[in-house]
Formats: sequence, structure tokens, C-alpha cells
Amino acid sequence: MIPPIANNFVAGETPETAITHVEELNRQGVGAILNLLGEHYHERAGADEDADAYVALVEELAERDLDACVSVKPSQIGLDVSDEVFEENLARIVDCASGADGRDCFVWIDMEDHETTDVTLDAYERHAVETDGDVGLCVQANLKRTPDDLERLAPLPGKVRLVKGAYDEPKSIAHTKKARVDEAYRDCLGYMFEHFEGGVAVGSHDPAMIDLASDLHEEFGTDYEVQMLMGVREDAQVELAASGVEVNQYVPYGAKWFQYFYRRVRERKENALFALRAVLG
Ligand code: FAD
Repeated sequence: MIPPIANNFVAGETPETAITHVEELNRQGVGAILNLLGEHYHERAGADEDADAYVALVEELAERDLDACVSVKPSQIGLDVSDEVFEENLARIVDCASGADGRDCFVWIDMEDHETTDVTLDAYERHAVETDGDVGLCVQANLKRTPDDLERLAPLPGKVRLVKGAYDEPKSIAHTKKARVDEAYRDCLGYMFEHFEGGVAVGSHDPAMIDLASDLHEEFGTDYEVQMLMGVREDAQVELAASGVEVNQYVPYGAKWFQYFYRRVRERKENALFALRAVLG
């Protein structure tokens, strides 16, 4: 069972607990992006099992009238086994999510470390074209290649989520200083609002980036949504949604919650204090 402190960042261990959280979020005007926790399977069986779980989740979401979609990690559905396993499992999830029996569930693809960027972009491009835009891709502003990738992505259907980047990448290919990453984020966001007709997803908790997105929306008229993690600036999520901005919360769930929770607590002092206060009652 997940201890109450971790419950702030993870919506339980089962699809049922996650869906209960989504229902509550939707009541507050916030949409959900469900992520089954898991990554880096080196055996096909684990990757297939999580892909099966996503297929079942997408079917379950279709039964209910919820504002919810899913986000998958390439290494969770087989990229560490082989490109082919990843592609087969992604195709299974996307096929189930988009279209069959009238189902219409958006599928986001998370971005992992730089060695996976090319294969992830290729897979996204294929599905974005085949589904006419029922998939989304995350790109990382810290990677020096991202401005070029954005030029490739701009004419495609589908949506792109811009994040700062969560992986420690070598200096030769990535900006590593925070100020430089922030500058790259601003530049990429500006490009996206100017060139992405299908809308922009701002994957950040940073008030400065969210304000910039609002200004860019005024300037270019491009639709946008803000995406934040469960347990981080949740009051701001609800306030933004109440002000008319589309907000989607990334909602992790599943038995592999400990590592994810530990990462959240380590990465920010605010989260650690929050966890400590919960322990002390
Ligand atoms: P930071 O630069 O970390 O912080 C900037 C400011 O934001 C802070 O000064 C503070 O004001 C505010 N802030 C940030 N965190 C907190 C907090 N915990 N509590 C209170 N205020 C806070 N990375 C990937 O590499 N691949 C992915 O697929 C991916 N998907 C993501 C999906 C979503 C929806 C989100 C939100 C992030 C995702 N990330 C992903 C992580 C991302 O790359 C960043 O590591 C992470 O979002 C931290 O950067 P930031 O822009 O939120 O702000």
C-alpha cells in the first residue's frame, strides 16, 4: 500500500484508484494524463505486460466520460528490448486509443535520454500522420538539437509538449546551466507559438514560462495547454483552469511508485518539506 505522503504524487497502485483521482481532478476543471509507472524493461514480457495494461486502460477510459488521456515511456513498452518491440507495442496502444469502436483517447509519448530521441521522433511522426494527430510527443529544451527537431515537427498533425528536460545529458549535446536551459525553453516556446497550428503544450511548473505562454498566446492566437505533475503547484493548476486556461495534470500510478516518489522528493526542497510536514502530522 502507498503511504499517505507518496499519495500526493502518485494516484494509487491500480487503474481504479487513478480513475478516482481523475474524477476529482475533472470536477475541479483539470484534465488528466495517466501514466502507468514503469521504465527500462530489458525483457519483452515486462514491456508487453505494460502495453497490455495501457490497452486495458484506454478501453476503460472509453467506457467513462472523463477528460483523460495517457502518456507512455518508450523504454516501458520495449525500447530497451528492441526498436521493433517498442514500435509494435506503441502501435497496439495507439490503434486501440484512436478509432476502434469509436474510441478516441489521446496518446502522449514521453521523451527519455538523448539516445532514444531519433527513434522516438520517428515513431511519433508515423503515428501523427496515420492518426491525423491523435498522438503527442514530448521534446526537451535542454537538448541543442531541439530547435531543428521543432522545425521537423511543426508541419505535422499532433501535439508537442515542451519540457526543460529531466535527464543529465553530456555538455556536448545539451545545455547544462539552468539559465541557459531557461533561455532555450523561451526560444523554443516562441517558435512553437509562431509555427505550430495544432496548439502547444507547456510542460512546466515555472510561473515565468506560464506567463510567457499567456503572452505568446495573445500575440499569435495559438491554442495552448499547461501540463504539470500531480502533487506540484496543484493550487496553481486549479486557479489557471478557473481562469480559462486548459490544464492537464500528469498523473502517475502503479505498483512501481517508490522510485518516482523518491525522485520528486529529492529534486525539490518544497516537496521534501511537504513530505516532512506530512510525516510530522
Ligand atoms: P524548474 O526549472 O524545475 O523550476 C522553475 C520554477 O518552477 C521554480 O523556481 C518554481 O517557481 C516552480 N517549481 C518547479 N517545481 C516546483 C515544485 N515542486 N514546487 C513548487 N514550485 C515548483 N522531462 C523529460 O525529460 N521527459 C518527459 O517526457 C517529461 N515529461 C513531463 C511531463 C510533464 C507534465 C511535466 C510537468 C514535466 C515533464 N518532464 C519531462 C520534466 C521536465 O523536463 C522538468 O524536469 C520538470 O518539469 C522541472 O522543470 P520545470 O519547468 O517544472 O521548472
